[in-house]
Amino acid sequence: MKLADLAKDKTAALIVIDQQIDFEPGGALAVAGGDEIVLGISKLMNEFQNVILTQDSHPKGHISFASSYEGKKPFELLTLKEVEAGSIRSKFSNELLVNYLKRVPHQLQVLWPDHCVTETNGWKINPNLPIEKASFILKKGMRLECDSYSAFFENDGTPTGLSKILREKKINKVVLVGLAGDYCVYWSAEDAHKEVFEVIYLQNLTRFVNFPENSKEKALTHLREIGVQVD
Ligand SMILES: [Zn+2]
Repeated sequence: MKLADLAKDKTAALIVIDQQIDFEPGGALAVAGGDEIVLGISKLMNEFQNVILTQDSHPKGHISFASSYEGKKPFELLTLKEVEAGSIRSKFSNELLVNYLKRVPHQLQVLWPDHCVTETNGWKINPNLPIEKASFILKKGMRLECDSYSAFFENDGTPTGLSKILREKKINKVVLVGLAGDYCVYWSAEDAHKEVFEVIYLQNLTRFVNFPENSKEKALTHLREIGVQVD
C-alpha cells in the first residue's frame, strides 16, 4: 500500500520507535544519522490517523548495561555459555541470568552503554516531534531484569499489550519508523508480522547501529524473506 493511502486509513497506525535523545548523535547510545529522520517522521505523524510512540525506559543498573557486569564493556556480548561457566560477576545471580538468557533469542544479550535511564535527559523523546499527535506512549524495558527491543514482546517473550490495544482499535496495518533499524524497529517489525499485522518498514526513516557487522543487511534481508514490506 502507498504511504499516502495508509496515512488516511483508520485501520493503519504509524509506530515511532524510540526516537529519543540518547539514540541520536551526542547521546549515550548514538546511532549515526539518528537525528536526520526527525523531520520526515514529524511529517508522517501529522498525516497519520493513528500514531503511537515507544520510549525505551530503563531503571539504573539495567540488565542490558555493560556497567552492570565486572570487566564488561559496551558492545560486548553476554552469553549463556559464559554465565553457565560461572565467569560472570554482577549483582544479578547466575541463576537469574541463566533463566533470562535461556528465554531470549539467540541466548545472548548485547551489552550497551547506560542509556535511556528513566527521567534523564537522554530518555526524553526528541522534542521536535509533534508528540501530542500520539494516542499513547508505550514505555518498554522498564523491568530491571529484562530488556525489550520490540514494541510487542519483551526479550523474554512477555507481551507488552500492544497487539491487544491495536486489535481493540481495529488496526491491522503498522508502519514502523524510528531507532534503531537493526534492533528495536527490526524486532518490532518481526513481531508485528508474527502477530499477523500487515507490516510496512520504512528504511529511509530509520538508522542502524550496525553492530555486529552487517546487522543492517541481515535485518533487511530477513524482513523481506518473512514478507514484511520494506520500502
Ligand atoms: Zn535499551
